[in-house]
Amino acid sequence: MKDGMRLVVISNRLPVSLFKEEEEEEWKTRQSSGGLVTALSPVIKDRGGFWIGWTGTAREDLDLKVLKTILGPSSKEIGYRLIPVLLNQDEVDNYYHGFSNEIIWPLFHDLQNNCYFYPRYWNAYNYVNNIFADVVIGHSNQNDFLWVNDYHLIPLARSLKEKKVERNCFFFLHITFPSRDIFLKLPWRQELVKDLMEYRLVCFQTWRDRRNFIDCLRIFDPHMKVQGRGPVVTVEALGRSTRVASLPISIDFRTFADIASSNAVEAKMNELKTSMLGSKLLLGVDRLDYTKGIPQKLQAYRTALETYPHLREKLTLFQLLVPSREDVPAYRDLKRDIEQIISQINGEFSTSGWVPIRHAYKSVPREELITMYRTADIAMVTSLKDGMNLVSKEYCACRINNDGVLILSEFAGSASQLKKNALLVNPYDRETTAEAIDRAFSMSEKEQYNRMSSMRRSIRRRDVFWWVNNFLRVSMNRELHDFPEREMAPLLPQSRVRV
Ligand code: UDP
Repeated sequence: MKDGMRLVVISNRLPVSLFKEEEEEEWKTRQSSGGLVTALSPVIKDRGGFWIGWTGTAREDLDLKVLKTILGPSSKEIGYRLIPVLLNQDEVDNYYHGFSNEIIWPLFHDLQNNCYFYPRYWNAYNYVNNIFADVVIGHSNQNDFLWVNDYHLIPLARSLKEKKVERNCFFFLHITFPSRDIFLKLPWRQELVKDLMEYRLVCFQTWRDRRNFIDCLRIFDPHMKVQGRGPVVTVEALGRSTRVASLPISIDFRTFADIASSNAVEAKMNELKTSMLGSKLLLGVDRLDYTKGIPQKLQAYRTALETYPHLREKLTLFQLLVPSREDVPAYRDLKRDIEQIISQINGEFSTSGWVPIRHAYKSVPREELITMYRTADIAMVTSLKDGMNLVSKEYCACRINNDGVLILSEFAGSASQLKKNALLVNPYDRETTAEAIDRAFSMSEKEQYNRMSSMRRSIRRRDVFWWVNNFLRVSMNRELHDFPEREMAPLLPQSRVRV
């Protein structure tokens, strides 16, 4: 590795979001929820480097002087420099809500009916990637290691190239990559595939995603060549040669397990258990998103209550719904549908001392989440399609006594790692999912122990540090310790940042 190489993470959002309390003028920051932040923050913090991303707020609403005074202390607090990308409302609407969340997100999750293929979305997507490229150019140099994350930024390496700037760009796609029949629906399909080939490495979560990408490439270049075997191959296609890999993201296992065994969590767990009045806890934790199969989960639970009446009053579902993309109409509709199903089921099955489903629509502090994981006898993930699903791994990490049962959708990326010991379900199949609920409810302690200890071993071995290490290794034959701890780098002059 060249001397002075820094780790630069680039993603749509910075790892903090700005917000104002109701009726207050002052901006505050909050560390964002979501898999990527949970995964990467500890790594950059320990190893030095910086993060480039959008602030999450349109620039019309932000005083730039104020922004400086907010991000400075936040950078200090988080332990690494935060470099903002500023976007106006129109760019946010068309690039973020539009192309990212109304085209790529639904299409890559096989839900093409939720897509709006507006050309203005495509134009904004490219325009905003050019803005990101300008910020990258202003802050990085050609020795740096640029780790570009996710579907919002596929054209970034091409934008840099068009500006005749050389950078070492490596790409990780956190969501799934669809099969060719689905991908071909995209009007800009060839452009996106070409853009991915501009990276020195394109990395997916699972073999299936990588295979789908290679299948799509073959459509546009029937003479393409794939060299090598195993998790990393070299692909020559469309006049480019790129490494293509698969590497499942993970969690900071030890931190979850440590917090789960703390006295504070133990005390809260006992409180929560007492409030369950002898009923077992079936837990769902999902962003409120149509890919998570939340209505399917609720309906499977209803079928379980109908088919296995011994579950009534003995098994309570707690569903945490983490607010997400509230500006997109499909998400608002979904919230309404979910609340309707919950009130129907509660209306149908409640008794004087028992309500079958409790739910909350909020993001909770980590300790509270871990208390839920520790208290839940069963966790249930019913994603219709999911890049990885960290919740399933976090639940296992927190089961410090090796008990508890994970019911897991076969369409979650984590199923490729946990399929032997989770109870795998097809969330579209209501009867067998209900059967899995009953099976989890009645599972012996010994079987729980065998399954859970095996899943925990696997997750512990392949934790987030393993993931980062391997990403660096497949990218540049380097490891985490090649990025030594260092002081925060000074900012370049503000004039070089596009504001
Ligand atoms: N999470 C959170 N706040 C909450 C509940 C969950 O930050 O109130 C986190 C959770 O710990 C997990 C992430 O949100 O790390 C969800 O990641 P996952 O891969 O399961 O789904 P995603 O939301 O990324 O699609």
